[in-house]
Parts: sequence; structure tokens; C-alpha cells
Amino acid sequence: MSFSPWIEIDASALAHNLGVVRSHAPGARVMAVIKANAYGHGVQLAAAALADADSFAVARVEEGLELRRAGVDKPLLVLAGAHDAQELEAAAAAGLELVLHHSFQLALLRETPLPAPVGVWLKVDTGMNRLGIAPGEVTAMLQALRPLASLRGCLTHLANADDLGDDFSRVQVQRFHEAVSHTGLPLSIANSAGILGWPESHADWVRPGIMLYGASPFAAPVGDLQPAMTFASRLISVKKVRAGQSVGYGGVWQAPRDSLIGVVAAGYADGYPRETPGGTPVLVNGRSVPLVGRVSMDTLMVDLSTQPDARPGDEAVLWGRGLPAETIAGAVQTIPYTLFCGIGGRVRRKVR
Ligand code: PLP
Repeated sequence: MSFSPWIEIDASALAHNLGVVRSHAPGARVMAVIKANAYGHGVQLAAAALADADSFAVARVEEGLELRRAGVDKPLLVLAGAHDAQELEAAAAAGLELVLHHSFQLALLRETPLPAPVGVWLKVDTGMNRLGIAPGEVTAMLQALRPLASLRGCLTHLANADDLGDDFSRVQVQRFHEAVSHTGLPLSIANSAGILGWPESHADWVRPGIMLYGASPFAAPVGDLQPAMTFASRLISVKKVRAGQSVGYGGVWQAPRDSLIGVVAAGYADGYPRETPGGTPVLVNGRSVPLVGRVSMDTLMVDLSTQPDARPGDEAVLWGRGLPAETIAGAVQTIPYTLFCGIGGRVRRKVR
């Protein structure tokens, strides 16, 4: 038995969640977003588990090249595109598709001789003010691109789709259609929040990320999704403290009564947020106990007073199976995305 933390990835949950995407957007093709090592889940494993997706998307050329080297031959879009001749040549040689989000990437295409036209999606900025060309530039840009690239579609990204009370998503959808519907190209708008909350954003291709991993783009969990990642470790110590004694750095928690304290081998170096407040649930042997004291680099403590039989070696689930990542994310005012992407390099990965 190992006494260090692990993540357990449930490949069947990934496949199940892809089915949930299809049930919400039945008319659309699915571009599975597996950037950032598949949101920390392991990109090769995710690519295999999501083999039924119609295509994949990653953020950077290097991520696409890594997947090609691993033998993934599905259509693969680089969401930020290429930013210099070296990236462009490597992407084209590997058969990656590229987003074009800025006119300097058009200049790059003009200046870089390629053996065959590279597949390009044109990104339009409809209000997020991050990446994309202005809606008014679409016609001229497509005209300039046609001789240089093989046009695959137009896309935009929603800024506020996770807020179902904010009508800005509708404004973006409308701006996008006004800018691109005359092009006749395939269109893509929706991320997970769009898929789940804004049917008018489904268009020809949807681009789910977080929901494939079983977490919600909203604050509350989404019923039919299954968490793909369980982050767990083991108790490495169980000890008594007397009423009034403090536990951990800074002594921020004092035992209100004689208590049994469990020390779990997982800390902020493993990706459990240091700022997690006391009282946040941890599942020891499947039963909820509260975090107490400050999370340290390699350990965190729990109050085991309701589990007097707990022993070193017992399992502690930090999120995943039986404990939604949304709960921990909510406790630290973040989103499951940052929890998943923040898993530490020394944490072992197991596949179920
Ligand atoms: N499309 C683009 C352009 C993105 O940057 C992302 C992720 O950030 C996604 C789709 C997937 O978003 P989500 O994980 O919210 O579904």
C-alpha cells in the first residue's frame, strides 16, 4: 500500500459524459477540448476514452504535436493557432488545424511556404475581448485567407455563459450570426455552459471541456454528469488532542473538546488548496469528516471524532467519488477547472 496521494481517472465516466454532451446538443458535432493535459486528467487517456468525439481541441501547437506523436490521428484544432513560422510549419506537417485569431497570423501564412494548405478556423471576437478578429473584418479576412488555407469554419467564445441570468450570451450569439452566417462555413460557439444552458449557441460544432470531466460550468453540480477524477490519499497518523489544544500551522483551530485528529498525506504541493477553510468535507472511509487547521505542503488534518475506529492507512477522498469537486471549489471561491489543473506533479495517476 502506498501512503501518498493519487488521482483515479474513470475512463467510462469520460465516455458517459460525452454521451451527455450529445444528448444536450443532438444536432451538433463534438470537438472535445483536451487542452492542459485534458484538464489535468491525462491527455492520452482522455483521447482514448473520448475516441467517439468528432474531433479534439488543444490550446497550443506543442500540445497538438504531443498527441500526434502519441498516435492520435483525429482532426485536432489548436485553439490559439500558430504564432511563428516554426509553429506553423510543425503544425502543418502534423496535420493540425489552426485557429486564426489575429491579422498577424494571416501575414504569417503569407510569408511561410507550406507543402499543402493548412486547415483554419477563423475566430471572431463577439464581446469577450480576448482572442478574435472584429465582426466587421470577417469578409475581408476570409477573402484573404481563401488562397492560403483550407477554411474549416468560424468560431467565437462566450464570456458569461456560466451566468444563466446574463443575457450577454444571446447578444454574442446574435453578433456572431450577423458576422458569419453569409459565409456558409461550419459554425461553433458553445463551451460546456453554452451546451447546457444556451441551446441557441449549439450551432454546427460544440466545444465541451469541463463537462466531459464530469464537473459543472455552473456553481452547482449537473445531475447526469459523472466525475472522472477522484483525488484521494490515506491517513498517515491518528492521534488524540485535548480540549483547547490547537492543530497545525498558526494554531488557527483549537479543539472545542477532546478530539481525534487524522493526518492525511495530501497538501497544497499535491493540489489541495491551502486556503480551504476548516469544516470543508473530506470522506474518510466514505464518511464525511471536517477539515481542521491550515492545509500544509504535504498534509492536511481532519477531525475524526465521529470515526473513533479510523486507522493509519484508511482512505481519504478529497474530491471526486462521493464528494463533488464543486463543493471544494465553492469553499475556496474557485472553479473545478483550477482544482483539476492544479494537481501536483508528484501525484500518481491510476486508471479505472
Ligand atoms: N472553447 C474554447 C475556445 C476554450 O478556451 C475552452 C476552454 O477554456 C472551451 C471551448 C471549453 O470550455 P469549458 O471547459 O468551459 O467547456
